[in-house]
Amino acid sequence: MKAAVVRGKQRLEIEDVPTPVPGPSDVLIKIKYNGLCGSDVHRFQYGAAEEGSIMGHEYIGEVVQTGQNVTLWKEGDRVVGGGGRPPEPTGSVFRNARYSAQSVGFKSPKWGGFAEFITLPEWAPSRIPENVPDEMAVLAEPCAIAVHAVRRSDFRVGDDAVVMGAGPIGLLVQQVLKAGGANNIYVSEPAPARAEAAVKLGATRVFDPASEKVVEEIVELTGGLGVPVAFDAAAAKPTLQQGLEMVQRGGQVLVVSMAWVDVPLLTVEWIGREVEMKAAYGSTPEDWATVLTLMERGQIDHKPMIPDDSFIGFDQMQSSMERLMSPDEHIQLVLAP
Ligand SMILES: [Zn+2]
Repeated sequence: MKAAVVRGKQRLEIEDVPTPVPGPSDVLIKIKYNGLCGSDVHRFQYGAAEEGSIMGHEYIGEVVQTGQNVTLWKEGDRVVGGGGRPPEPTGSVFRNARYSAQSVGFKSPKWGGFAEFITLPEWAPSRIPENVPDEMAVLAEPCAIAVHAVRRSDFRVGDDAVVMGAGPIGLLVQQVLKAGGANNIYVSEPAPARAEAAVKLGATRVFDPASEKVVEEIVELTGGLGVPVAFDAAAAKPTLQQGLEMVQRGGQVLVVSMAWVDVPLLTVEWIGREVEMKAAYGSTPEDWATVLTLMERGQIDHKPMIPDDSFIGFDQMQSSMERLMSPDEHIQLVLAP
């Protein structure tokens, strides 16, 4: 099968590799789509992916073969590559593993979804609801990250909230907040295409942090108080500090995105308001179940995030990863192997 193999820092090669063979309790999945995640781009950019590995964890596809012990799946089932509940953690492999790392569809770091096929243990994938199109289902993994972040936050129905960064995660956090009954949702995003997607998805107002004073504007819009909760889905240099300054006394900043560089903080600007900073990472099977329910009910809109020109082939993998290293006109690129 074809796969995009890591061959050094900022280098992917399209190679012929052996098609994986499912073990007795595994399923073989023919991958239809795999989203290019910001974390893949960061691993590519900073040389953090193992030489010879295949990245990609936001994939969906069809079960094409099942091991002899598999009871949950049959050929033709549409699945997304994560969200299943791992069996009781008994072995040493599971003892120290992060629960979320078991649920996001990494079989092992060696084999990801930038390939034509992948095997997973039968407990790992989730069924795609019948009325959910493949183009929406490919957002299930990042959406589980968004649901996890919102569920970890102190957000309550009726609250105003800010989302910094309208990349895939930010736009999904925005949609989850909306589904969860947010009042005003303010978004901060410098890239025009991403800002436009935030508007289409119902943001109350979208700020361009390059030309507008986001913190002052937010504070003014909230009667001088600040918002109860802000989500940092940008991991840009100034966003964490901005988030801490724009939340109200006792408010909360949920850090969803990871910055791979030092982030400057000036604590005197926010410690006096006793704000809280909290991290969200990965997702649980409960988050995935919530995502699939939201999708089934039509509360997630994939179209502004994945327009028709978002789908790429293997031949565009290298150039697409390079492009995504800096903000781009695209929001979410998707490999169709
Ligand atoms: Zn991801």
